[in-house]
Amino acid sequence: MDSSILVERTLAVIKPDAMDKAAEIEDVIHRHGFMILQRRKIHLSPEEASDFYVDHYGKMFFPSLVAYMSSAPIIAMVLAKDNAIESWKELIGPTNPFKARETHPRSLRDTYGKDQTRNAVHGSANQRTAEREIHFLFHDSIVEPIVSDLSAKDYLEVNVNPTLLKGMTELCKIKPKDPVTWLADWIIENNPNKPKVAQYLVAEK
Ligand code: ADP
Ligand code: MG
Repeated sequence: MDSSILVERTLAVIKPDAMDKAAEIEDVIHRHGFMILQRRKIHLSPEEASDFYVDHYGKMFFPSLVAYMSSAPIIAMVLAKDNAIESWKELIGPTNPFKARETHPRSLRDTYGKDQTRNAVHGSANQRTAEREIHFLFHDSIVEPIVSDLSAKDYLEVNVNPTLLKGMTELCKIKPKDPVTWLADWIIENNPNKPKVAQYLVAEK
């Protein structure tokens, strides 16, 4: 069964210093098997940049980070892939590009990063952060909750697959011209959760 909508998602950002390499970076993203589900170019205000990095509030580098992130447009992307959060972190490498050069050669921060702050790209740290960050930069998208593969599979196995399988078996027997509409009608007709309407016989007078 196609479960692409259930695949893990993460937030990726091309930071101001790497915007001139955006096309190359997006190419690397595709070549590593990520789907770009959503993409937008935005210029964050200093207030928005502070909100985005609120967890770092109070650190020495916070003011320069905020100034940098609001200095020019960025590209935000929702990436999808199995294990997207960890694989994207692995592909971008550690925060410091100089360390990336040693431990993650050819990672995006090795290739495009300039220094500790201007490190080319961002990736969400974990699932909770991914949800928050995607919501922050894509207000209109329905992202929550990002279902874990297992709970989604269990849910579908119990609640949907048995009905869908029956419907698809019927569909293959009948082979209607418009299979999707036919299946939609069949599912509504055969919905096991449909409230049973009691049939009252109206006595004829
Ligand atoms: P990451 O982006 O790898 O998750 P952090 O969440 O620790 O890293 O920090 C957020 C961003 O703040 C970094 O990507 C980098 O731009 C900047 N930053 C982090 N640590 C430093 C530092 N020691 N000096 C300057 N800038 C930093
Ligand atoms: Mg971080």
